Amino acid sequence: MTADTTPMVVADQVCKNFGALQVLKGVSLEVARGEVACLIGPSGSGKSTFLRCVNHLEKVNAGRLTVDGDLIGYRERNGRLYELSPKEAGRQRRDIGMVFQHFNLFPHRTVLANVIEAPVLVGGASKEKATERALSLLDQVGLRSKADAYPAQLSGGQQQRVAIARALAMEPKLMLFDEPTSALDPELVGDVLEVMRALAADGMTMLVVTHEMGFAREVADQLVFMDGGVVVEKGDPREVLSNPQHERTQGFLSKLL
Ligand code: ADP
Ligand code: MG
Repeated sequence: MTADTTPMVVADQVCKNFGALQVLKGVSLEVARGEVACLIGPSGSGKSTFLRCVNHLEKVNAGRLTVDGDLIGYRERNGRLYELSPKEAGRQRRDIGMVFQHFNLFPHRTVLANVIEAPVLVGGASKEKATERALSLLDQVGLRSKADAYPAQLSGGQQQRVAIARALAMEPKLMLFDEPTSALDPELVGDVLEVMRALAADGMTMLVVTHEMGFAREVADQLVFMDGGVVVEKGDPREVLSNPQHERTQGFLSKLL
C-alpha cells in the first residue's frame, strides 16, 4: 500500500468577510500529512479567522478549503456547492482538534471529566474506555496526578496541557493551535511547548498560530507569514526567519527581535 499523499489541509484562495470587512482575501497554503506548519503575522491579519474556518467555526465565502480531501463546510454536487447540515459539519469537525489561547475548559468539571466528555457524548465511547484513554493522555501531558482536580486548581500551563489532552481524546487527524502559549506566564510556556514538540515528533499534523519563533524554527516544517488577509511568504522556517524575501515579512520579524 502506498502512503496517502493527499495534503491534510489545502486552502486555495480562501476568502472570508464579516459584512463589508474583508478579512481573508485569498489565502492559499498547504499542510502535508505529519507536517507542522506555523502561522505567524501581525495582529488582525486573519490568522485566527483562518483557523476558525478550518474548524467550522466560520464559513468561507469563496475559495476552496479541504481537510484530508474533504471540502470544509460544503458538499459539491454536479458542480454546485451546498452548505453542509450542522450534523454533517459536526462529523467533519470531530477529526479536528483545536486548542485556544484561553484553554476553554469546563470550570465545574474535573480534569478527567473534561477529557472524557467528547469521546463519551460525541464519540459514543463507553465511560470505561474513555477514562482509560484519558488517563493515558493525561500521562502524556504530565498531568495524570491531576485527574481529579478542577481547572481553577491548576496553573495556566497545566490547564493548557489538559486542553491539549482533551483535544487529543477524539483522536484527531489534525490539530489546530491558536496562540496556545500567549496567555501564559513566561515560566509556564516551556512545558506546553514541550508537549507540542512531543506531539509533533509523534507525527501529528499541526497548524500552529504562534509568536514563539524558537518553536517555529526548531519544530515547524513550514513557516507561513500572513499579513492583511493573504499569505505573503512561506517556506522553510530557518530560511524565512533568517532571510525573509518580502519587505512586510522583514518588517514584522524585525519588530519581534
Ligand atoms: P489575527 O488572529 O491574525 O489577530 P483575526 O482573524 O482575529 O486576526 O481578525 C482579523 C480581522 O477580522 C480583525 O480586524 C477582526 O476584528 C476581524 N474579525 C474577526 N472575527 C470577526 C467577527 N466575528 N466579526 C467581525 N469582525 C471580525
Ligand atoms: Mg488571533
